[in-house]
Amino acid sequence: MNPSQAQLSGKTALVTGASRGIGKAIAIELARRGAAVAVNYRNDQAAADAVVGAIIAAGGSAFAVQGNVSDAAGVDKVFAETAEHLGAPAILVNNAGITRDGLLLRMTEEDWDDVMTTNLKSVFLCTKAALRAMMKARWGRIINVASIAGINPNPGQANYAAAKAGIIAFTKSAAREIASRSITVNAIAPGFVETDMTANLPEELRKEGMQRTPAGRFGLPEEIASLAAYLALPESAYITGQAIIVDGGLA
Ligand code: NAP
Repeated sequence: MNPSQAQLSGKTALVTGASRGIGKAIAIELARRGAAVAVNYRNDQAAADAVVGAIIAAGGSAFAVQGNVSDAAGVDKVFAETAEHLGAPAILVNNAGITRDGLLLRMTEEDWDDVMTTNLKSVFLCTKAALRAMMKARWGRIINVASIAGINPNPGQANYAAAKAGIIAFTKSAAREIASRSITVNAIAPGFVETDMTANLPEELRKEGMQRTPAGRFGLPEEIASLAAYLALPESAYITGQAIIVDGGLA
């Protein structure tokens, strides 16, 4: 075992929405540091299997777990299958997220509800599902992927910005509630990151995002994953209730 693999060996991690993008990079990085990783996905089994394949090929341990984390039945399924294959997660990364951007007058109730359930309710449901075992173990790491949009919102994203601000407030409240059990709860607030989510933005918005970012480029998923992995390590034990911005200077 190399020294970085030893950092999280013996720990199970669950990463929601890990079939691509930021979740995929986090799953690979946690596995590289020795965690056994449950790679959650909703639709794309082939993509999730490819992430698991890459982890196993690199000497790690992982399995793919289908489940829609925006509803309680999906979350129950994901946690039951994770416990059966790898044991209860000591590390939970709430990463699954979607956008349904639009100006308020055109935003439908469905656009609002889809973003709220996928991006915010999932964080509540998964955290609750993970807590019992973490409390018993008196150790846990909960890492929520929020967004800079939850701090400095853009027009056309009222649903997404509200959900991401909600994640940050949830993070701070939960951190206070469970800090005495050696469970930390932190949020990461990325700026623009090169994933399918930003690839689908209109070219004009991508260009504008790049111009507004002092680093002059979008971030890489691996640049979010390195912070997520740090927050999962034993040595991050005294960091909790934070929303850490990773945005190339945007904010
Ligand atoms: P992405 O490339 O679109 O990937 C989203 C992932 O979430 C996919 O694996 C998708 O799986 C999964 N997912 C969506 N809904 C789900 C559900 N109900 N249950 C389970 N899995 C679900 O997105 P990304 O850019 O990597 O974003 C990851 C997170 O970072 C999100 O929370 C996003 O809001 C946040 N973020 C992204 C950026 C950015 O610039 N990219 C910036 C700030 C914050 P399926 O394909 O199988 O549905």
